[in-house]
Amino acid sequence: MKVAVFWFRRDLRLQDNTAFYHALQGKVKVLPIFIFDDRILNELPKNDPRVNFIYDTLKNINATLQEFDCSLLVLKGDPLAVWNKLLKSYSIERVYVNEDYEPYGIQRDDEVQRLLTKAGVEFKGYQDHVIQHPSAILKNDGTPYTVYTPYKRKWLEEFKPISVHPKMGAANLLAKQFPFPDRLAVGIEESAIKVLPFSLDKLDSYGEQRDFPAMNCSSKLGPHLRFGTISPRQVILQLQPINEVFLSELIWREFFIQILYHFPKVVSENFKPKYNGIKWRNNAADFEKWKKGETGYPLVDAGMKELNETGYMHNRVRMITAGFLCKHLMINWQWGEAYFAEKLLDFELASNNGNWQWSAGTGCDAAPYFRIFNPSAQLSKFDSRQEYINKWLPGIKKGTYPLPMVDHVFARLRALASYKEGLKM
Ligand code: FAD
Repeated sequence: MKVAVFWFRRDLRLQDNTAFYHALQGKVKVLPIFIFDDRILNELPKNDPRVNFIYDTLKNINATLQEFDCSLLVLKGDPLAVWNKLLKSYSIERVYVNEDYEPYGIQRDDEVQRLLTKAGVEFKGYQDHVIQHPSAILKNDGTPYTVYTPYKRKWLEEFKPISVHPKMGAANLLAKQFPFPDRLAVGIEESAIKVLPFSLDKLDSYGEQRDFPAMNCSSKLGPHLRFGTISPRQVILQLQPINEVFLSELIWREFFIQILYHFPKVVSENFKPKYNGIKWRNNAADFEKWKKGETGYPLVDAGMKELNETGYMHNRVRMITAGFLCKHLMINWQWGEAYFAEKLLDFELASNNGNWQWSAGTGCDAAPYFRIFNPSAQLSKFDSRQEYINKWLPGIKKGTYPLPMVDHVFARLRALASYKEGLKM
């Protein structure tokens, strides 16, 4: 019997899932699959909370599919090897996926598509992960935007009324029960750190409160958009009336997605090569203090403790911790980027890279290099009642908190001199 395969990747939901919806409209039965990719898993600790989130979400998806008398086929291995096996086990007519715009996703899909095409199987990709395709919003001369404000303007001009796909029905699913593997079989161990549910309830005051970490008013959507437990269309439809400040943040996400798509070199290079001459200090002991939240600057340290203990960090605090690493410690932004990638539950290559390069001043539409946050002034401004720092730094009240590892005035002047010197190269 011929089947169509729907391949879940970073779109872990049954409703308003574009490729899944189209697969179900076809004439042949649909087999839904997920592949735990060894190329990704081998780079992560066994108890990575994001992989656990994927596992738990798949389990829920499988339970829902079972109500329709079918199930999810969960596989593990190198995707190419897995597809080779699938081609031998099933008579596959077509494979449906939602497009992935990250360099690794593009490369993996190219490889799989080549294999499938050779076997006479069609590989159909759909736009799902973004409202505007990375190639849809271009300047009049056909080149990509590298500055956010005009990108946003064009994004809004092209923004059409949103609708979601009709609810999934059972009719076209392949009626087959596959055993759902336990964690061990997938090679993962339970994590104490959990992804929280998102909430769009507190957005009325988002514009005024979003910079204050103790107010905790942000949506916590990050991991959900990352792994697709909600679609960007579903999010926007829930924003009624549209909250413009919040929408601008969602547009930042798509801005960085298209930057990475058009300029994949940013993964390993400064967006602006004129910053290549900067001589970073890259002091390993300083980096350890930053990672552990032992810099002696409370807002930096509270942020790092929050990150280490929960996998979350408030956006304003991310800006301050990132700026501190690049400017006060003169450590290459790539070190910080890699640490955030390891820890953030909402880690997304495009946003993480874009924001780190923004913080370092090396990015496409970056903060000017001479804008150096004073972490103490930021504390007075954004956590004046010290609620956020008291929550994460019990040592402050006990008097066991360390002294600043570097003087702000000295570090600021050192950074300015290093950047100026680097720019001369
Ligand atoms: P909300 O404030 O509720 O915003 C809603 C959504 O808008 C977010 O979930 C996200 O998808 C998007 N968004 C908001 N701000 C930004 C932004 N500056 N850039 C891109 N998208 C944004 N965001 C990530 O999703 N993944 C990352 O790996 C990431 N790394 C970052 C690293 C640094 C150094 C900095 C300064 C920021 C980073 N951000 C990253 C952006 C931002 O901090 C997070 O998106 C936000 O804090 C997530 O919390 P939330 O979901 O409650 O966001």
